[in-house]
Amino acid sequence: EFSLPVSVKGPEDIQRLGHRLDWLRVRLVNVEAQKNKLLRHISHELKTPLTSVREGSELLADEVVGRLNPQQSEIVGILQQSAVQLQKRIEDLLSFSIALSRDSALNLESVELDKLILKVEANQKLAIMTKELKIENQVFSLTYSGDEEKLMILIDNLLSNAVKYSPRGGTIQVTLSQEKNQVVLDMVDQGPGIPPSDYTKVFDAFFQGEQRQEGHVMGTGLGLSIAKEYAIAHHGSIDVVANPDRGAHFCLKLPLNLAEQT
Ligand code: ADP
Repeated sequence: EFSLPVSVKGPEDIQRLGHRLDWLRVRLVNVEAQKNKLLRHISHELKTPLTSVREGSELLADEVVGRLNPQQSEIVGILQQSAVQLQKRIEDLLSFSIALSRDSALNLESVELDKLILKVEANQKLAIMTKELKIENQVFSLTYSGDEEKLMILIDNLLSNAVKYSPRGGTIQVTLSQEKNQVVLDMVDQGPGIPPSDYTKVFDAFFQGEQRQEGHVMGTGLGLSIAKEYAIAHHGSIDVVANPDRGAHFCLKLPLNLAEQT
């Protein structure tokens, strides 16, 4: 909201204001475009050296170069985890700028949703194993017409939060179901859960809840806003569901007849 420091006396002033607003609109679009370009540039620049760090620590952890004593393998484990976390943050930044930019059109293809979910879980195996978490899958074979890459990022963000906020040894329930003409994915963990006052805020860009601010878990505050953008791009929705037990419950709904709507 802003007010212009001019008094409007006649049609000419109104016309002048109109021109000024047009100019501001163009400026805003340019600034947005520059911002997205910068975000993408930074993310790309960070990716390459990080890949070397990740691959190097993997080589060390796999003892390809030589055997490690317990202290060394603990340090290498921390390096590996940090590299994975950093990579996730960079990917978040990149996805965020892509989600906001105009070239975020869906690339529709046939996606085997159940397989995609298992793939996302496999990608996070290291973190799941480190925290000794149990994943309870209730999925069935389902082919969905959607954008595989974006769906993967969406589900990955939900799962990585569930993993991040779960207590050691906790269980994460992943349930896929079909409701009339939509597919529903529920993800429930046993972490601290979301306070009702944050149910909608968690989807705001850069919002980070209390646990985050206390420094217990690292993140960018972008994961859920990207998930929301991608759910909406699929004409779907994503919401926090009230959970009487402890733990967060996220529900993603995607229409099955997306191809007809786009
Ligand atoms: P972050 O990088 O902080 O995890 P997100 O956008 O993914 O960013 O999430 C925003 C906030 O929502 C988090 O800071 C956290 O407070 C809350 N949140 C998200 N997922 C969970 C969860 N599974 N359990 C508890 N809190 C969560």
